[in-house]
Amino acid sequence: MANEDHDALRSQLEFHGVSRRDFLKFCGSVAAILGMSESMIPQIAAAVEKGARLKPTLWLHGGICTGCTVAIAQVDTPDIATIVLDILSLKNMTINMASGDDLERIVADTLEDAENDIGFILIYEGSIMRGQGGNALREFGEPQIDRLKKKAEAAEAIVAVGSCAVDGGFVAAKPNPADAIGMKQFLDEAGIDTPLINLPTCPVNPEWIVATVINVLILGRLPEMDSFNRPSLIFGHPIHDLCPRRGHFENAQFVYEFGSKEEELGYCLYPVGCKGPQTFTNCPIVRWNRRASWCVESGAPCIGCGITSPKAGGNWVDVNAPFLKRHRDLKIGDMRIQPSTAGVIVGAAAAAALVAHGLGMKAAGRMDGEGAPYEEMKECDRKKGGGK
Ligand code: SF4
Ligand code: SF4
Repeated sequence: MANEDHDALRSQLEFHGVSRRDFLKFCGSVAAILGMSESMIPQIAAAVEKGARLKPTLWLHGGICTGCTVAIAQVDTPDIATIVLDILSLKNMTINMASGDDLERIVADTLEDAENDIGFILIYEGSIMRGQGGNALREFGEPQIDRLKKKAEAAEAIVAVGSCAVDGGFVAAKPNPADAIGMKQFLDEAGIDTPLINLPTCPVNPEWIVATVINVLILGRLPEMDSFNRPSLIFGHPIHDLCPRRGHFENAQFVYEFGSKEEELGYCLYPVGCKGPQTFTNCPIVRWNRRASWCVESGAPCIGCGITSPKAGGNWVDVNAPFLKRHRDLKIGDMRIQPSTAGVIVGAAAAAALVAHGLGMKAAGRMDGEGAPYEEMKECDRKKGGGK
């Protein structure tokens, strides 16, 4: 690699007050998300350092609330990811100095580059709105779906970010007047076979986007994916297994009502609608908002936005609503548990769960003595005088 590549990056990093050490730390967190060993860090750093010469990444929008764009705008590390995205040549239609015709020209240039074999990665945020003959969403005087077809065909890979892009999300929830759908259904119906990576959740976790794009650039291929086109390493484990409130679940210590003593004590949120057992994401590890917290940790039940709809035309909102009510079976091993919201029955269900989990938990030492551990005290709490 030419020295100029290193020099260009270093001067950008220095300009943003980012040390080489911080940069390598960032590369380490990318490796962790991708499930790579630490030995891959130099390779990730090298890929990022030569990023200026890599393919552009075009971020387009459909039917959105712009929450996913806001999420990517919040990346920090502190500013490294932003720098990385600059280096990755990310062209986001909202976060862009250009607008109107100028912005359209940027998109046209990117497509022209694609025809010249430079190629591009298409990141798509929002649902695809087919309603009113495609006129539910128009761009530059044309139905947006017609324009999207050309770009989707030209892209080397598509990353659908956020649940709207994956299965239509909130936009597609009943009664769905815009006839909104997700990218997979759109590609299938249009007969477009561009490789697709789905990153659901609402909004998407920006760390996953950075890691996924770098993964494609480093390895030159898609990450290993599950049957919903989601990267297996990110969406491979239920939130429930990684949840800091799991000890309370095992001990049948539940929140039955918001504002209660049990809520104050940080008990398990399962009876008030937590979908952690059914939702497969690594939210508790990667966390959100600059790794400050995530839904359950901040006191809200998981509402299952990482779940993609199992069938075409469905969406995670219709699958999981009402959000604050437990309404689905909890499957533990071969057992199916259907507790009502009545505390005594939930307690019985938890006792049944304990039987199923008991041996494993006992072996792990989590049921000895005082019972399972409570949430760990965070360093920031200690700084505020907590954790004595
Ligand atoms: S996935 Fe959620 S945050 Fe992202 S655009 Fe859709 S509604 Fe907004
Ligand atoms: S709060 Fe949710 S994810 Fe956490 S232990 Fe309870 S049910 Fe599982």
